[in-house]
Amino acid sequence: MPHITCQAIVLRHADYREHDRMLTLFSPTLGRVEALCRGCKKIGSPLLACSEWFAFGEYVLYTGKGRMTVVSCQMNESFFALRHDYDRLKYATYMLSVCEAMAQPNEPNLHLFTLLIRSLSRLCFQERDEKAVTAAFLLHAAAISGYQPRLSHCVKCGRRLEEKEIRHFDAVDGGLVCPECSEMMDRLLSLSPRENAWMRDVLVVGIDKTLCPEGDAPGALLAAFLEERLEKPIRRKGLF
Ligand SMILES: [Zn+2]
Repeated sequence: MPHITCQAIVLRHADYREHDRMLTLFSPTLGRVEALCRGCKKIGSPLLACSEWFAFGEYVLYTGKGRMTVVSCQMNESFFALRHDYDRLKYATYMLSVCEAMAQPNEPNLHLFTLLIRSLSRLCFQERDEKAVTAAFLLHAAAISGYQPRLSHCVKCGRRLEEKEIRHFDAVDGGLVCPECSEMMDRLLSLSPRENAWMRDVLVVGIDKTLCPEGDAPGALLAAFLEERLEKPIRRKGLF
């Protein structure tokens, strides 16, 4: 079956020869895919639009000689407006990097794909706080992958915490730490009761129905947590 038709989004591209690009695609049915896009840099190429970052569409791929090649693409969305807002673009690009780290070749991942498209749509088309949208994306991405943080009980002793006791989060074990257990640990991150309540609400009712916490959503904490779970750093300088 040399031709495959699939939904996909471009996570990144790299120049390849004079007129070509190598695309890193994320498909809900194929996972992460490297595909050569021949001639896309030539003026007037019909493949130029679908070889850009964030290009989302129905790609026809040809498999042969041990690699995939883009044959054509019916674009659904380019998320072009992201390019006009540097802050949103930074966070949107970071979400692509997170998906590149999480998506694996030949591993379907419809939930992560849907989460990415929805989160990019929020950033691109709705007036929302980019840090909150990205933090919610990280939280749901972790939950989808089976790494939902513990936001009610201490990860060390298992005791249920009262709201006024919520101060510390352990990115390594993935959850709250009670005041007693925190005295024996030095790697803890700060977390306010309000931030914790925000994360619980986002998981239950979704970001659209959750008010942003005063100050910023706990994006740095969630990024650190996800990186611990994935066992790889994801560049996020200047984001949180
Ligand atoms: Zn404890």
